[in-house]
Amino acid sequence: MRQLSERTSGFTDSVIRRMTRVSQRYGAVNLSQGFPDFEPPREILERLARVALDGPHQYSLTWGAQNFREALAEKQSRFMGRRIDPDKEIVVTCGSTEAMMAAMMTLVDPSDKVIVFSPFYENYGADAILSGAEPIYVPLEPPCFKFSEEALELAFRSRPKALILCNPSNPCGKVFTRDELLVIAALAQKYDAYVITDEVYEHIVYAPHEHTYIASLPGMFERTVSCSSLSKTYSVTGWRLGYIIAPEAVIDVAKKVHDFLTVGAAAPLQEAAAVGLRFGDGYYRALLREYTEKRELFLNGLDTLGIGHTVPEGAYYVMLDISEYNCESDVEFCERLAEEVGVGAVPGSVFFREDIRHLIRLHFAKRNDTLQEALNRLEHMRKKMRR
Ligand code: GLN
Repeated sequence: MRQLSERTSGFTDSVIRRMTRVSQRYGAVNLSQGFPDFEPPREILERLARVALDGPHQYSLTWGAQNFREALAEKQSRFMGRRIDPDKEIVVTCGSTEAMMAAMMTLVDPSDKVIVFSPFYENYGADAILSGAEPIYVPLEPPCFKFSEEALELAFRSRPKALILCNPSNPCGKVFTRDELLVIAALAQKYDAYVITDEVYEHIVYAPHEHTYIASLPGMFERTVSCSSLSKTYSVTGWRLGYIIAPEAVIDVAKKVHDFLTVGAAAPLQEAAAVGLRFGDGYYRALLREYTEKRELFLNGLDTLGIGHTVPEGAYYVMLDISEYNCESDVEFCERLAEEVGVGAVPGSVFFREDIRHLIRLHFAKRNDTLQEALNRLEHMRKKMRR
């Protein structure tokens, strides 16, 4: 048989998704792939039940149902501090995964360069391969995950088409400050590059940190392709509802890319989720209160066990320091952790360009009793993993 595509020859499977399968195999508490084990808001589910009988069940408009886009535009205008046009500045996608891929396909030609901060969310590597982009990595150095302005400017000097900005960041929990975003914005303008954002954790930012949309900075809406989703904000990761917000000229092309990739996101789910997009500010405050509590419960638990960890400013991931185990392979460590301790985690090396093997990622988007069970199991980590 002839060879499969050259493009995919460098692909491995997603380690994040693989660790969910490993966790299932061993009955581990799965803190690897980041998704909740609690229910979405009741109002959304009740609307979904009605939609099951009343429809719609056929394709929505390819770039998103009118009702959904109007609700989304209203919500994002409020949070981004700029009027978003529901008809001209939004494409609804199948999750932010498609939003990011469509954004890359819209902006990038094969061999164009794209700046990626390291550590980075696994999919960006695949997005670069599929779009033919060449990533240039700029390190965010643990434990504070700050970047060097010189290193960033050096990367911009090679004339990248775009920079990918995951803010709040998965996996390191960094929330870029306004000043850091101003530095990135100034460089993007100086070197005429776009910024593609991944802001799926925009509503999970712990005090005193605050989320700034880079698109809201002066001169930046024009060159920012903002990608996000409803997955984390409304606990509906399986619904695959995401979106791109960008200037009309970019959206015009993104609409076509999206149309040919997937035609459209699920119509009944858009209809049901629009209820969530119309929630008042109280919903987002309550969501943050819950995640703040989970973060405290989990981080305090780790402290009590004497396990070193990062302190996330946003999102719901924490990186545990496993240097004391001196292990050759963090992938093997995570497999053993699932099997012998009963907790699923993602090896840190998946996220870093640099050779870093002493960190593993866990998430705390779980019910408090699930987190407590994970902590009970982690109590035995030293004894079981030290042999
Ligand atoms: N964003 C989540 C994570 O990093 C889930 C990713 C996914 O599997 N789509 O674990």
